[in-house]
Amino acid sequence: MPTKAVPAPKLIFEKSSPGRVGCNLPKADTPEVDLCSVLGGKRHSLHLPEVSELDLLRHFTNLSQINYGIETGFYPLGSCTMKYNPKINEVAASQPGFTNIHPMQPVESVPGALEVLAQVQTLLCEITGFDEITLQPLAGAHGELTCLMLIKAYHESLGETGRTVILVPDSAHGTNPASAAACGFSVRSIATNGEGNTDMEALRAALGPDVAGLMLTNPSTLGLFEPNIEEICRLVHEAGGQVFCDGANMNAMVGTTRPGDHGFDCMHLNLHKTFSTPHGGGGPGCGAIGLQNHLEPFLPQPVIRRSKAGKVEVLKDRPQSIGRVSAFFGQFLMEVRALTYLLAYGKQGLPRISRHAVLNANYVMAKLKDVLPAAYNRPCMHECVLTAQQYKKGGVRALDISKRLIDYGIHPPTNYFPLIVPEAIMIEPTETESKQTLDEFCSVMETICQEAETDPSLLKNAPTSQIVGRLDEAQAVKILDVRWQPA
Ligand SMILES: *Cc1c(COP(=O)(O)O)cnc(C)c1O
Repeated sequence: MPTKAVPAPKLIFEKSSPGRVGCNLPKADTPEVDLCSVLGGKRHSLHLPEVSELDLLRHFTNLSQINYGIETGFYPLGSCTMKYNPKINEVAASQPGFTNIHPMQPVESVPGALEVLAQVQTLLCEITGFDEITLQPLAGAHGELTCLMLIKAYHESLGETGRTVILVPDSAHGTNPASAAACGFSVRSIATNGEGNTDMEALRAALGPDVAGLMLTNPSTLGLFEPNIEEICRLVHEAGGQVFCDGANMNAMVGTTRPGDHGFDCMHLNLHKTFSTPHGGGGPGCGAIGLQNHLEPFLPQPVIRRSKAGKVEVLKDRPQSIGRVSAFFGQFLMEVRALTYLLAYGKQGLPRISRHAVLNANYVMAKLKDVLPAAYNRPCMHECVLTAQQYKKGGVRALDISKRLIDYGIHPPTNYFPLIVPEAIMIEPTETESKQTLDEFCSVMETICQEAETDPSLLKNAPTSQIVGRLDEAQAVKILDVRWQPA
């Protein structure tokens, strides 16, 4: 059943009443000082809200309840792996030994922290099949950029300065061409064929002495495993290029298959996706990258490495390094969370992540096939891309279906991505959802698709259960109005 509309909450400033206090400060044991006389300047009112402790508690508790997150409901957002983040991760990341250290401390005084970094690197090397890992990049896109910087430095070290083009499939995440452009490359798009794979003829035709490399997402953003992956890597290498793997979709492969064995030269991982560190709201991310030995001299520094004697060392001043890509050692507490997650699953548990992720996506795809057919009729990996094209003649678009889901208390999936699928609905259930949750979701989707045929206005007007209906998404992003100003 759709839920009822929520009344808009008042701002805390609107709840303010002059003289009301919510805190109980101890009596000052020092003489009172007039700050204005010390610092100079005129006295200004700060316009702080004046509320009681109970008002304050209710205000923020109510706000938290009109929010939506993975801990309140199902979140089938594709390509971004919104999986549950086990709370044991937070327990580990809040240990005082980790939270009370300072990034400027001498490295000799933080051997435990260095040990965390070294262990995460070792485990990620084993999981990805790469020779080296660095944990410095702060987001997936940042990892892409760092890999491209390595590729550029590698070509330059060989005197190959004419390689100025990066090939990017037309199904790629927008960050891929953006990273290539940010790194000074120009982008050449590669078509996807009728089966959802890289068009091999298009790839062959695009290769040449000006190509620095290819950025390939595997499984692709269509949720499909690239069957020609080894051949693709071979062709690009023969043409003198390097192959980067966008590893944001590693959830389909953890513990099952390794990109480092497929022929890739480097890849990025999103610890905030696959390895269950928090995600969203622009929070801290980690776009760790993996690379083969030939790119190792260019690694960003400092390089964390375990010596033969087992001691973890911090290496700086490496002559061919691309330099720093982030302050200090990256998002340290993300690494603590990722390590906790990896150790909690263990070697036996890790393959279960990818197997269940793939099973769940195929289950949803099969259950919805009559109302929302898959864009490509073949087994998918960790996510499925469906099309709502059949409802377009009745005026209903993919976005309307997604907006209606909100009325049934479910977060919308990704829409209109990848760009090459008309009326795309991309669903990534993740491994952490039960069969019951998936069944409920599919039955809501079936109901909505029926509504699309019998009463499309229900979808066109959705959501009606929230404080706001449809936002102008462009304006909501470009003209943020989040600041209260006194009248
Ligand atoms: C999420 C994602 C990225 C970018 O990662 P960010 O951490 O958001 O910068 C790149 N490629 C794909 C396929 C993704 O899903």
